[in-house]
Amino acid sequence: MGRRDEDLRHRGGLRAAIRERLTDGTLPQAAPLRVLPAHGAGELCAACDDFIAGGGMEMIVEWAAHRRRCLHRICYEIWVDEVRTSSRRERAGVPLPDGVSLESP
Ligand SMILES: [Zn+2]
Repeated sequence: MGRRDEDLRHRGGLRAAIRERLTDGTLPQAAPLRVLPAHGAGELCAACDDFIAGGGMEMIVEWAAHRRRCLHRICYEIWVDEVRTSSRRERAGVPLPDGVSLESP
């Protein structure tokens, strides 16, 4: 699995890796309970497995009580975008929590 992940990231980039993780269930398709912007403290990103640099922007995403994952802000935004795209394809939209939006940089 590890080698396949690496291949995916190099070949198709971050978005393809995140899409793959949505498909295989590593990342949930459900809207999170809570999303908290924070400054990174060296955690691993749940989407791309790279470290989130200390002081870098991260999103702490809580999908269930006591089930938190940290994502780079960019990975989080791609995840939101992919969930929206796939939910548009499969069913009526997944509700996203208040304040969660995709802003153009
Ligand atoms: Zn990441």
